[in-house]
Amino acid sequence: MKRFIDNIFSMFYPRLCVGCGNALRQHEEQLCLHCLLHLPETHYHQEHDQPLSYIFAGRVPVREVASLMFYNKGSIVQNILHQLKYKGKKEIGKFLGRYYGRQLRKEPRFRSVDCILPIPLHPKKQRKRGYNQSEWIAMGLSEGLGVPYMTDVLIRTHFTDTQTKKSRFNRWENVKEVFDVQNPEKIRYKHVLVCDDVLTTGATMEAAIQHLIQVEGVTVSVVTLATASH
Ligand SMILES: [Zn+2]
Repeated sequence: MKRFIDNIFSMFYPRLCVGCGNALRQHEEQLCLHCLLHLPETHYHQEHDQPLSYIFAGRVPVREVASLMFYNKGSIVQNILHQLKYKGKKEIGKFLGRYYGRQLRKEPRFRSVDCILPIPLHPKKQRKRGYNQSEWIAMGLSEGLGVPYMTDVLIRTHFTDTQTKKSRFNRWENVKEVFDVQNPEKIRYKHVLVCDDVLTTGATMEAAIQHLIQVEGVTVSVVTLATASH
């Protein structure tokens, strides 16, 4: 009966692929099979020595850095991330997080991860959007990797939109101020995996990591859904 109602419902409100917008078949979830098979995956997590390994070199100590997909303008990945951030499609974050988490679990370098920390949004921004996309990615990674995620350790402090009014010199300092760590005992001597949607220059990530490594014995790895670095 439920299936019958689902079928009737989907005749009027078909579930759509977040990648291409075509109607999903019954067994498909979030992405159609075509989009799923054509994701521009980096496979960076399979190798220690790859372009992303050097993104934080000379800035902050990081164990492993990996991204699921390449980010290109006009690509399906750009569309997926846009839907995730601005169109309320938070489930795609969880879906791809879980998809990537299962792959990461096969690599010993990522299997040692103890917990996952999403990059927090400022509360004001989160209230406006209704959710933090990084947290949904963390939920999926947590399922795929089989380790918990925590939202009460890495937190935001100041709002960043004052940045535009500041000079270029001051801007970095301002980014640094936006994060803080609370409940440090939860990550002491742990391998933490910080996650976000996109990795570009790594400045936001770096600012967060600066705070995390103040905690005794912490080591940090980074994972994002997409990267602009090739
Ligand atoms: Zn599709």
